[in-house]
Amino acid sequence: MFEEYSRSRLLIRLLLWFLPFVIVGMTLDLLPWMLLAATWALLLWHYRHLLRLANWLWRERSLTPPHGSGSWEPIFNGIYRLQGKNRRRRAHLARMLTRFREGAEALPDATLVLGSEGQIQWSNNLAEHLLGVRWPKDGGNRIHNLVRHPRFVRYWHKRDFSESLELVSPLNDDRILEIRIMAYGDSQHLLIARDITRVRQLEEMRRDFVANVSHELKTPLTVLQGYVEIMQMTAEPDSMMAKQYAAMEEQSQRMKSLVDRLLVLSRIESATDIDFEHKADMPAILQRVEQEALELSNGRHQLQFVVDSQLQVFGDEMQLHSACANLVQNAVRYSDDGATITVHWQLEGDRPCFSVSDGGEGIAPEHLPRLTERFYRVDRARSRDTGGSGLGLAIVKHALSHHNSQLQIHSDLGVGSRFWFELPAVMHAKQSLQA
Ligand code: ADP
Repeated sequence: MFEEYSRSRLLIRLLLWFLPFVIVGMTLDLLPWMLLAATWALLLWHYRHLLRLANWLWRERSLTPPHGSGSWEPIFNGIYRLQGKNRRRRAHLARMLTRFREGAEALPDATLVLGSEGQIQWSNNLAEHLLGVRWPKDGGNRIHNLVRHPRFVRYWHKRDFSESLELVSPLNDDRILEIRIMAYGDSQHLLIARDITRVRQLEEMRRDFVANVSHELKTPLTVLQGYVEIMQMTAEPDSMMAKQYAAMEEQSQRMKSLVDRLLVLSRIESATDIDFEHKADMPAILQRVEQEALELSNGRHQLQFVVDSQLQVFGDEMQLHSACANLVQNAVRYSDDGATITVHWQLEGDRPCFSVSDGGEGIAPEHLPRLTERFYRVDRARSRDTGGSGLGLAIVKHALSHHNSQLQIHSDLGVGSRFWFELPAVMHAKQSLQA
């Protein structure tokens, strides 16, 4: 057991050291000389221990400190204890580091630890296969000097890592990578690159499949509709057959509208990047939307369109028309007769903003996050009665995401809803279309 440091023990030792010198000094009447001799002796003794300590710290390789006596014993013991503690902590950290590295190696993604300026501090094996970064050979190099794709370089310099980046692998053009960067610790970054080629292929296959099936259904449906119409014309009015033909006609019409919407959705989904040089004449689009809404409402609602006739944007006309038309048609379809529906198209600050407010039935909060999912309907029967397909808001979502925008919804059950979206300020086309 180590002797521990104790202040009282140190004081007693000091007193005991001086005591014999004081007694002898008083008996021989040489007290000052004896005290001086005692202090010198003490100083020499301390100096000797100090030298042993310095020698051990700087020269000796042994792990155990020299054996100390008296007041130096707790000091040497304290150093020994501290050393042991540090050794155990280092071993613990080394074990943790090994575990972290083994874990990072087992990840199915390329993982890199980057410094504040993008210097590679560590990377796993997969980083070599997906990004061509070799560890430890590339250690210290900046990531944007190794992955030189202009989009990656822009992404790194922008320092906004809230969204991931999709990139073709620098080693293989057929591979698509999803890159995520997370800031952590003392201005360090963790870069994760995942191979999403298969996911993208499956998505493409699904999109193609839906588009092909919808397309293939169109022709037989049109033929069937033609025959039903002919049969309707030959049937006796108000007869049983006439009613059955009317039901057939209604159902085939529903199917046709579903197929049409599926085609619109897959066309918008698979649309390539929007040409942001092209101006979309929003006031003209909204005139068409108003006309379609008036036909759908058939005088049952009060429609108010407040449109800034000078407000033009860059974007895709077909997609913007689909987004606005679906929102306005929903407002008509889910509002009771006599309700007022207000549509606004104007600047909010420097951002063009479109909004539709209705005094309809409203939507309970638990449904709001799922509304833009395909075929998600709050009330299936009501949606069917109003001619809904469950695809309208999914179309809106995709059309808006191509324009770097998002659908916002505020709704109070029984009071009404407001659907709106803002386009980025850079999409505001300030000159008139004729210019
Ligand atoms: P649908 O074709 O069924 O209308 P949407 O994708 O357009 O499909 O809308 C999804 C669901 O959102 C609808 O079924 C409806 O329940 C709800 N919804 C959409 N717009 C409104 C609205 N203005 N007022 C109330 N509910 C709405």
